[in-house]
Formats: sequence, structure tokens, C-alpha cells
Amino acid sequence: MHNKSRRTIIVTKNIAFCSGVKRAVSLAENETRERGETYTVDAILHNEEEVKRLESLGVKRVREGETGKTVILPAHGSTSLEILSLSKRFGKVIDTTCPLVLRTAKIIEKMRKEGYKIAIVGDEHHRETIVLKDKAGEFLYGVFKDGKDAINSPSTPKIAIVAQSTSTEEKLFAVAEALILKTQELRFFNTICEETLRRQEEAREISKKVDCMIVIGGKTSANSQRLFEIVKAVNPKTYFVHCEKDVKIINLSTCDSVGITSGTSTPLWLIEKIINILSE
Ligand code: SF4
Repeated sequence: MHNKSRRTIIVTKNIAFCSGVKRAVSLAENETRERGETYTVDAILHNEEEVKRLESLGVKRVREGETGKTVILPAHGSTSLEILSLSKRFGKVIDTTCPLVLRTAKIIEKMRKEGYKIAIVGDEHHRETIVLKDKAGEFLYGVFKDGKDAINSPSTPKIAIVAQSTSTEEKLFAVAEALILKTQELRFFNTICEETLRRQEEAREISKKVDCMIVIGGKTSANSQRLFEIVKAVNPKTYFVHCEKDVKIINLSTCDSVGITSGTSTPLWLIEKIINILSE
């Protein structure tokens, strides 16, 4: 808890990078230090401020057809085509896929072998869901944002449900409830990342105790956006902040207590900068 000024600032314990992102960033930093530059597929993480910092160290985003010494595969996985193409174009491929995403991929593989259609709960444009869809291949039953999406799906004898690691349990349970009417056999796997769940739960609890909440996250970070929605549903005075400039324009004059949390791709240095501004 910070209380340099009259304002009380409560910072959640589950904040900044999750273990998967921390590992990916540290592998990228080490490799770049050794080799001078490295390439990443997409942005290595969904935080514009941290991407800028990594770019200044020599971490670049790979373009179509580009070749080089080292390429880093992202924490939320890569499709088989990407891996094939990149391993032909780069001398070294470092795979930073999070162990939890690998676990979901293994579940899909096993369920496919047992003849189940694969239902994925997630955002169909998110990298992890694209990768899981790739693993499901012709066994894909569908990608569902929430229970409403699943209501009109066709019936099929065997369905296995998995979720994008940063989805919510509410959505996963709602899809399972809808799909139970579509099949004779339903296998349910809660593949939501525990770290994400703990973060959502703690933020929800803290938001009940403070006048307002600040969620720090990148503009393209789906998990930060989701965390913001969860917290805002409990405390309507919740603000989504991308960088220190955003926090300067929020009117917090009526907030004696402020809670702070962040998405899983938000760096600690950025959070500290924002806390300092709020404490002044
Ligand atoms: S949110 Fe969870 S699953 Fe995703 S990279 Fe982080 S630790 Fe891994």
C-alpha cells in the first residue's frame, strides 16, 4: 500500500508480467544481448510501451520472407506453417510458447485421437486461439466467444471443450451449458490460466474497497481489456490506462483511494511510473 500523499493507493499482488510473458521477454533480451538483434513473430507481447523498449535493444518484428540469425516464437504459440517457414529462414528458432498453452495443445491432440470435435472458447482473432484452431485442424467444432454463440451449433456425438488461457470461467461455463444439449458426450477442460484467474479475482475484491480503480494495459491486450470489463462491472469508476500520459488526464479529485492492477503483458517499470504520478 502506498500513501505518500493524502490518497491511498492499493496495488494488487498479482500484477505486471505473468510467468509466460516474463520468460519470453527474458529469452528475447538474453538472445539480443548475445547476437545484437533478434526477430519476433508478431509483437512479442501486447504492450506498446514495452515493445518500444525492446525495439530499442534490437528486438525486431519479422516481416514476410525476411531472414536472419534468430527468431523468437511468441508465448501464445505458433501455427505449424509459421514454424515450418521460420525454421527455413532463420538459423536458430527459440520457442517461448507458455507451458500452459502447450498443455492445451496436448489435450486437443489427445481428444482428436479419441474422435472428439474440438470446441474452443476464446476470441477467434487472438493468436492463441488461432494456434489452437490449427491444432484442432479438421476436428474443429467451432470457436465460441460466449454461450450465445453456441446455442445454434449443430449436434455431434462427441465434443471436447477447451478455452483460450485468458478467457473467463463465466464464458467457459456458459458455452459448456449450451453445448451439453448438442452432444451425447461432452469432455470439459478448464484450460484457463490460474494466474489470470487469481489476477481477476484479486482485482475484483480490491475494486470493492476503493473509490476508483486503474487497469494498466496495452491497447491491443485482450486480457487487459477483459480485466478492465470485470473490474468495471464491480466498480463503475474504473479507468483503462495505457501509459503515464493517460493517467495525467484522468480526474481523480474525488478518489481518496485508488486500486491499481494490470494485464499480464504490462511491464513493472511502467506500473511504477504510473504509481509515482498518482502519489504526487
Ligand atoms: S497468461 Fe497464463 S497462459 Fe498466457 S502466457 Fe501468461 S502464464 Fe502463460
